[in-house]
Amino acid sequence: MGFPEHGTPADTLLAELGALKTNDIDWKGGRSPLFVFKASDAVSEIGRAAFNAYFDENALGGKRAFKSVGHMEAEVVAMALDLFKAPAGGAGAMTTGGTESIVLAVKTARDFGRRERGLSGRKLNIVLPETAHPAFDKAALLMDLVVRRVPVAADLGADVEAMARAADGETIMIVGSAPCFPYGVIDPVTELSEMAVRRGLWLHVDACVGGYLAPFARDIGYPIPAFEFSLPGVSSMSADLHKYGFCPKPASTVLYRSAALKAHQTFDLDVWPNGPFVTDTIVGTRPAGGVAAAYAVLRHLGREGYRRHAREVMGMRDAYKADIEAIPGMLVRGAPHLAILAFGADDTDMMQVGTEMAARGWLPGLVRRPPSLHLMMSMLHAPARERYVADLAAAVDKVRAGAGGARAKAVY
Ligand SMILES: *Cc1c(COP(=O)(O)O)cnc(C)c1O
Repeated sequence: MGFPEHGTPADTLLAELGALKTNDIDWKGGRSPLFVFKASDAVSEIGRAAFNAYFDENALGGKRAFKSVGHMEAEVVAMALDLFKAPAGGAGAMTTGGTESIVLAVKTARDFGRRERGLSGRKLNIVLPETAHPAFDKAALLMDLVVRRVPVAADLGADVEAMARAADGETIMIVGSAPCFPYGVIDPVTELSEMAVRRGLWLHVDACVGGYLAPFARDIGYPIPAFEFSLPGVSSMSADLHKYGFCPKPASTVLYRSAALKAHQTFDLDVWPNGPFVTDTIVGTRPAGGVAAAYAVLRHLGREGYRRHAREVMGMRDAYKADIEAIPGMLVRGAPHLAILAFGADDTDMMQVGTEMAARGWLPGLVRRPPSLHLMMSMLHAPARERYVADLAAAVDKVRAGAGGARAKAVY
């Protein structure tokens, strides 16, 4: 449409929004395998209420105008540093999401490399397992860095030896994921940390998707390997509050072992007529609601609450895994540590199965290598399990009978 000359009444527009939504995937019914998360109605409600209480403020003004927002942000960062076992003197910032956290961490490692390791003027690189999130490539594009993606080991975790070979004197960062998005597997961060210490490399742990679930899954008995600052080689971490922190979007944390490392993140420039401009984030104006909501949800749940939800989420994952593997030939890829599952049957075209699932009303999550379907689950998916598994079994039967149609393609 062109820019409207005349206004439209609010109630008409709100009704229109409601009607527009009916074209979306039924995410409340558990039919979206990513993008949305839920712990419980109560947790969603406190997040929404706290967000709305700070709907109008601007977190950019957290230092001068909205001191309460600056305070809540500092407390969220302090809680995150404690959860991830940072030593005294650790530091961090809230951001609008995993991508911003990662771009900032890469920028910080680059500036550390330039200023403290004398790397300026050279073509610098980052070394990633092939499973690391494309946000690192986005950062590299912005900063003119070379990305070296290294194939993973047979268990789908990072191949530490191969990463060691790929790293050199121009490597500003090596990366491990906790877990990676494609398979839900936590990389061998202990070994990556040893390599980082031995070689003097900056190790970033991308715990965007799993950071706020893994410590609690470990507490209730699941085998979660160390991935936090307790490992001496970990220089920085990213962890998204708006995923398994069950906080409203946008909210993530980027964390550093020390304030001295984090100092390289801060943008501090005195160039314009108004005076010095100092920010920790890439974005300027950002919603204070995300800050207030994260502060409220973390404190509302506490470790106890997160353990309770971890038990529910992991129990549901176990049930999905058992049901999926009860379909003959169907296997979960690797040994996923948290609530992400990739699964497939090597005698079945899983991309055709994806199309069949879409025809049955599911947004199919897809993995190309090896061809698999993908689920990143929260309590939205609990009530949908029986229906999902029944549809999956029917879709697999149809494809195996040679009656499958086009192959599905995912663009994330
Ligand atoms: C989601 C995710 C990101 C990016 O986070 P956004 O909030 O979508 O920007 C980075 N890394 C991993 C492993 C993720 O799952």
